[in-house]
Amino acid sequence: MKQVARRTFIKQTGIVFGGLLINPSIRSLANTTMTGNNQYDVIIIGGSYAGLAAAMALGRALRKVLVIDNGNPCNKQTPYSHNFLTRDGVPPTEIAMIAREQVGRYPTVQFLHQLATGAKQTENGFAVQVSSEEIFNARKLVFASGVKDIMPAVPGFSESWGISVLHCPYCHGYEVKHKKTGIYANGDNAFELAMLISNWTHDLTVYTNGPSAFSDEQTEILKKYKLPVVETEIRSFEQQNGYVRNILFVDGAQSPVDAIYARLPFEQHCSIPESLGCELTEEGYIKINPAQKTTVAGVFACGDNVTRMRTVANAVSLGTTTGMMVNKELIEEDF
Ligand SMILES: Cc1cc2nc3c(=O)[nH]c(=O)nc-3n(C[C@H](O)[C@H](O)[C@H](O)COP(=O)(O)OP(=O)(O)OC[C@H]3O[C@@H](n4cnc5c(N)ncnc54)[C@H](O)[C@@H]3O)c2cc1C
Repeated sequence: MKQVARRTFIKQTGIVFGGLLINPSIRSLANTTMTGNNQYDVIIIGGSYAGLAAAMALGRALRKVLVIDNGNPCNKQTPYSHNFLTRDGVPPTEIAMIAREQVGRYPTVQFLHQLATGAKQTENGFAVQVSSEEIFNARKLVFASGVKDIMPAVPGFSESWGISVLHCPYCHGYEVKHKKTGIYANGDNAFELAMLISNWTHDLTVYTNGPSAFSDEQTEILKKYKLPVVETEIRSFEQQNGYVRNILFVDGAQSPVDAIYARLPFEQHCSIPESLGCELTEEGYIKINPAQKTTVAGVFACGDNVTRMRTVANAVSLGTTTGMMVNKELIEEDF
């Protein structure tokens, strides 16, 4: 959406999702006190791409749904999102904004702009508490709560995350193709990432930020492909508005660079699934079966919190599937 169209859209709808917003005409509970009717078929915690896709499927299935979201998606710093059909190259907030407007058309779906702080099992399902301390009940819970990337304490890194320090070449690789590119990682992660990124650029250097942890075989392969490895400790990334220009090292040296790829450790954005007893995989994702069910009956999960295939398209796909699976379970219980 172009700037003018975007401004008109915001003016008409009041929606600025991800930053905050909330159109009073959409059934938002943000400023209301819920005293009586706080029973839902489904509560979705996380109202970004996965959660909104689940909400759309459930709203279209006539389910009473509450979407609780505190507006903190993982890609909020990225200026443009790529590789999602019909929305290639638009700001990620815009995708969420349109999605939210469309989901908001289903009268049984409500939104609550708050943090879900806890949940427990009840006789008929689950009770979810939010930061205002209100409690909402539902028969089923969906966690579309995403993951939180853990940034290294290198000055300039977090400022550039999603702008010129990138997590995925399928999302951003085309825009920095053939550019001077760094890999900020070590060992197997660095090797795997270097191999992958060599598809987009040959001007590639691996920065291990300390002694390299490659196997002998990996070192041989990197040498064969003339991929330099720099082990010097990094002091900071010199950047302007998130665009990294130089890597500065503790010994005073520096390397010019246009883009950097990093594979960061992560944690679940929301700890409620674990507190309910949902098991995690060894990698740290919520364990699910092919129907998106977690290891706790009645609790489903979708989006980045269940998979390393981290794209908007995949989050939407998993969210839609989850909405259908939750509805199927409700039908089977009632029919
Ligand atoms: C920097 C970056 C750039 C990216 N660029 C692209 C790209 O160009 N193209 C692409 O396809 N993909 C891109 N991705 C991947 C894409 O953003 C994710 O796959 C997608 O956002 C996952 O959607 P999600 O709904 O699972 O999680 P998220 O979008 O992370 O949303 C999770 C939501 O849950 C909410 N939440 C969590 N816990 C609670 C709680 N307790 N209470 C209330 N709300 C809660 C959060 O506030 C957030 O709104 C990028 C990712 C990153 C990190």
